[in-house]
Amino acid sequence: MDARIYGVETEFGLIHRPAADQQHPGRGLPPDELARYLFRPVVEFGRSSNIFIPNGSRLYLDVGSHPEYATAECADLIDLIASDRAGERIMHHLATAAEHRIATDGFTGQVYVLKNNVDSAGNSYGSHENYLIPRTTHFRRLSGILLPFLITRQIIAGAGRVVPADEETQAHFAFSQRADHMWEGISSATTRSRPIINTRDEPHADAATHRRLHVIVGDSNMSSTTSLLRYGSTDLVLRMIEAGVPVGDFELENPIAAIRQISHDLTGQARVRIRGGGEMTAVQIQRGLLERVQRFVAAQGAHHERVEQILELWDRTLTAVETEDHSLIDTEIDWAIKKRLVDEVAAQRGLSLGHHRLLQLDMAYHDVHPERGLFHLLRRRGRAQEILTEQQVQDALTVPPPTRAAVRGEFLSTARVFGAETTVDWVHHKLIERPLEAVMVKDPFADRDERIEALLDKLGDRTALRELDYQERSRRGVSPALTDKYVTADPDQLPEPPVI
Ligand code: ATP
Ligand code: MG
Ligand code: MG
Repeated sequence: MDARIYGVETEFGLIHRPAADQQHPGRGLPPDELARYLFRPVVEFGRSSNIFIPNGSRLYLDVGSHPEYATAECADLIDLIASDRAGERIMHHLATAAEHRIATDGFTGQVYVLKNNVDSAGNSYGSHENYLIPRTTHFRRLSGILLPFLITRQIIAGAGRVVPADEETQAHFAFSQRADHMWEGISSATTRSRPIINTRDEPHADAATHRRLHVIVGDSNMSSTTSLLRYGSTDLVLRMIEAGVPVGDFELENPIAAIRQISHDLTGQARVRIRGGGEMTAVQIQRGLLERVQRFVAAQGAHHERVEQILELWDRTLTAVETEDHSLIDTEIDWAIKKRLVDEVAAQRGLSLGHHRLLQLDMAYHDVHPERGLFHLLRRRGRAQEILTEQQVQDALTVPPPTRAAVRGEFLSTARVFGAETTVDWVHHKLIERPLEAVMVKDPFADRDERIEALLDKLGDRTALRELDYQERSRRGVSPALTDKYVTADPDQLPEPPVI
């Protein structure tokens, strides 16, 4: 596919750390209670803990305690990365508001929202990728190529993890947060068995022509350059699969054993068995796929302006793993950015790798707080590269990308101005007062829909509204995540960074 729809769902970890001078030091609010505090403005805004907001994305709190943000449908990788970062900001705004409310209720303390994939109790939560693919793609061929790619992709896009010692292994640094928590190659369940690729058939598009490929295996990335490589490389591999070109045989005999083994071997040289016979290393599998992608792009031409950048970073990251010269990528790839920080702090303080301070450091890297979070601190110091401008992130908070998300954004914000209640999902748009006129927009690329326009016209005169840009609409309370009501951006009010 030349054009593709992408979406990323991120589940966040929550921690409440009470102030030291409190009556019950050391005991924060339980995560489910904290999650309810966090989502209170969302529920007040949308009367539900599962809502779509005018930037086209979805905010969701399931029964558990891991709030989720699912980006709007994006047709451009930068839009996707910006929408995902906007989700972090929204969670941060919600956390700030929750801190105030918690304080009002007499509990004080700080709320941490972490964009990682394992909590201190060892529970895992996900970062799901969604790729629109043609239904004609042969699924057996797709999984035969995509599974080995995804299993080894952690060496180029993993978020890195300080792994504490246990009975069998010493403390060490691993490529991935998520690898140890995958249980199956392919399945239709997402939680019970946790497959790498989920086959539940919900295309949110015309089911006759398209599928939504649902990838469950990825680590949540902080770095936008790593994100670009993660989504960009996956898209390129998919293009090769879709084009039907021969890709070679990388199918693994035991995907789940392989994904774990690869995560825990930072040299990239651990050998895994290939189903067709023989053994290969993660680096060899990635190199094999990269070479084929390079040939494919040379023959077909680049289909967007970031392709060269993606291929260059992919190649350089594999060289960094092969040569163990991580300085080649330690401002661009999450695991290497984090590892450099961990190594430095360990050396400065004389800490061994399993030390709890280093485990905390790992978590603090994923703190979405724009001032306190360690990734963002490194970014400000030039130790992590950035491809998004602040303006792009700000815009993504309120402005939907030019896909079906724009139809949804227009629908939601207009209805809100007129006080009309709605129910929407990725495809459906319904005004509660006009249930028989509900509109299905099956094409995720459509950024305008005449039927929706006609339906909204029935609400009243929209002339004045059309003149308001999205920012202005959100200032008027049309968007839940951003209103001044609960965003306190006063830097003097921000908590101190954690002592490490
Ligand atoms: P779960 O949370 O149970 O995994 P889910 O994956 O079915 O649920 P959502 O959490 O609602 O669904 O997220 C759907 C994601 O898919 C969003 O990021 C959205 O932008 C994206 N998306 C929507 N339509 C399409 C499509 N046609 N093709 C690819 N991605 C899509
Ligand atoms: Mg989801
Ligand atoms: Mg999902």
